[in-house]
Amino acid sequence: MIEKTQAIVLRTVPNGNTSRIVTWLTRDHGRIATIIKGAQRPRSLFLGQLDLFYTCELLYYTRSRGDLHIARECSPAKIRAHLRHDWRACALASYATDLALRIAPPQAPQWRVYRWLEAVLDDVNQPGSSSSLMIWHELKLLTELGLAPRLNHCMNCHTAFGEAATALHFSHERGGLLCASCAKADSRPAYPVPADVVAMLRNWQRPNASPDLIRRTRCEPRQLALLERMLGEFLRYHLDLPLPSRDLALAINKR
Ligand SMILES: [Zn+2]
Repeated sequence: MIEKTQAIVLRTVPNGNTSRIVTWLTRDHGRIATIIKGAQRPRSLFLGQLDLFYTCELLYYTRSRGDLHIARECSPAKIRAHLRHDWRACALASYATDLALRIAPPQAPQWRVYRWLEAVLDDVNQPGSSSSLMIWHELKLLTELGLAPRLNHCMNCHTAFGEAATALHFSHERGGLLCASCAKADSRPAYPVPADVVAMLRNWQRPNASPDLIRRTRCEPRQLALLERMLGEFLRYHLDLPLPSRDLALAINKR
């Protein structure tokens, strides 16, 4: 069988002297791996046609046994050239592709994750990307997966929190905010979150929030540090992942 799809390069490693194994997140078939025979030969048709963070038009032969398919042709649809020059943005792109690689099971359609990764790579390919932009994309991914942190009522007693609610606590294990008395009574870890950070997260969770809104939001260092902690613990717990690439990307993007 031959398949044609759009695909994002997640990883590329040499195989033997002349071949290469490329892992892709495809639009139609989820995560797949293809071997590109002779990829490193000077006259290979694949030379210059693919690299990390590219979106490509990919044509490949599927193998019925095993999960390594054979690439037949590929041409770049987006090369995202800014990522070749901006190493901070490149670290964010590396983290996003690593996250997609870890959460997309092999050969199962992952349309939402594909769409998410396309959007992240397009955004960090613009000048002015930052940790806060990445945190906003983490929130978007959690929303796509149905795991977004709940910020409008107590996860225990269900009291609704208005705009002016104070003394709120965040529990990644409970999946969102707790009121002060429920946080005190709960055996799982929870810590206070100031109202300005709750308001920022609620704004960023709105469906109409855009990358431009995030770029315009002035985020103080203490706010950013807390957001990094909250989303980091939340992602690790709910996706059950270690995410060392996240620590690296956010450290590189500290100003
Ligand atoms: Zn409560």
